[in-house]
Amino acid sequence: MQIYRFCDAGGCQSTRSAYLSGKMKIRVRFAPSPTGPLHIGGLRTALYNYLHAKKNNGSFILRVEDTDQNRYVDGSEEYIQETLEWCGMIPDEGPTNGGDYGPYRQSERKPIYKEYVKILLEKNLAYYAFDKEEDLSKARSEAEKIGKTFQYCVKNRMSFKNSLTLNETEKIKALKGNYIIRLKIPPDQKITVFDEIRGNISVDTNILDDRVLIKNDGMPTYHFANVIDDRLMEISTVIRGEEWLPSLPIHKIIYDAFGWKTPKFMHLPLILKPNGKGKLSKRDGDKGGFPVFPLRWKKTPGYRENGFLPESMINYLSLLGWNDGTEKELFDLNDLKKAFSIKGIQKGSARFDYEKARWLNHKYITKTTSDILINEKIIKDELSQYPKEKHKVIISLVKERLYTLKDIKKELAFLSEPETFDDTGIAKLMGKNPLFVLDKILSLTEQNHEGYDIKKDLFKWAKVNGISISLVMQSFRLSIVGSLSGPDLFAVCSILGKDVILKRVNNFINHLKYKT
Ligand code: GLU
Repeated sequence: MQIYRFCDAGGCQSTRSAYLSGKMKIRVRFAPSPTGPLHIGGLRTALYNYLHAKKNNGSFILRVEDTDQNRYVDGSEEYIQETLEWCGMIPDEGPTNGGDYGPYRQSERKPIYKEYVKILLEKNLAYYAFDKEEDLSKARSEAEKIGKTFQYCVKNRMSFKNSLTLNETEKIKALKGNYIIRLKIPPDQKITVFDEIRGNISVDTNILDDRVLIKNDGMPTYHFANVIDDRLMEISTVIRGEEWLPSLPIHKIIYDAFGWKTPKFMHLPLILKPNGKGKLSKRDGDKGGFPVFPLRWKKTPGYRENGFLPESMINYLSLLGWNDGTEKELFDLNDLKKAFSIKGIQKGSARFDYEKARWLNHKYITKTTSDILINEKIIKDELSQYPKEKHKVIISLVKERLYTLKDIKKELAFLSEPETFDDTGIAKLMGKNPLFVLDKILSLTEQNHEGYDIKKDLFKWAKVNGISISLVMQSFRLSIVGSLSGPDLFAVCSILGKDVILKRVNNFINHLKYKT
């Protein structure tokens, strides 16, 4: 037998004493199954694990739980890796960067599970089961007929075909065919496990199924592989979604069967639909017009493609079930590494709020320097139609108005020629001789080279002639952008250049003449 870190059911000496002294290094794992894209709920689990590790100088491990070959979806492991990288949460150990506790893909650990299940078989705490599918279906439908859920458990295990009921010769013969290995749940016990968020969870073993540990393809089930790996990888704290809470007693029984101490457990609250009724699903995203995946998956765009910065994604997810005890809401990854604490995780479910995610994104876009923003793909693509030297000025003009990077398109509409001129705006000019002002704007613009700052001369002229600045600005703004709102007008002019300004002012003059 290969010697693993825990070479016997009691665990190796140094780790055991570390456990007992409570000085165990914090080691956490994010353990997704590659069955499709990572949902934002899964990303929150990864984030809380990462933060718990970083806050405590520990290690964040990525373990791929790919033992269910029927549910395996190509590309999902790469998707998970890419998402973690996008968010800046690089695993300290994992399938791509390795580590001392590998392999980190469960499908590559088959021999390990085989050795460990042998220990349970020898201790008579697990057994082979040879039942044919048709026999199990028959038993299932008989139970259903009398309104019961079928169980393979302490009450009826002796009526099936397994290594507890067959004699030695029958057993040897049966082992040549198909079999599975089941956990022998101890009868009449109350199993109690402590969850750091929810407190004690207790269950009566008489109601538990003899769970399958090894399937007939030789692969372990989730429960078995999960416990073995958490032990062998010296995981100190298991942080995962609340949906795994019902599995906790089974895991405890497996730990007990080996005589192992359990790690700490934390089951995170559910993420609810925006209306608070039920768990958030992909369908809610489709209905509500928001992404539920961090990155694009096939044809479905994720948060990244919808113009979210990873910083805001992380900040938003951190608040879905955690707070620092104050009203503070803005935390970037570095703040979180310091502020995060298990104590701040709430018990109750967290309601998904897309508007809040957008608001946070707006805050981060505003905080990000123009130099960085112009290199974001969505921004870069949109700006490619303008001269490179103007990109920074353009982005700094609009960044305060962006809720997602995709808003750039509509916010840059002022750079294109106005299709209409706002009538309410024009009404404000009427009777004040705007044509006199516009003629002056034309002559000042014509006389000067591109890049000339018209503001000073225009304002001086207005003062000398007793013309209000608001009339000057409204006339000018309407001609350039077609309405009375928009970013700083002189900055817009510096982007557009002399020829475009002249053309637009002339168009507006014609429009006014035609109107009167
Ligand atoms: N493989 C499980 C999942 O995909 C992980 C459960 C756990 O963290 O124990 O959710």
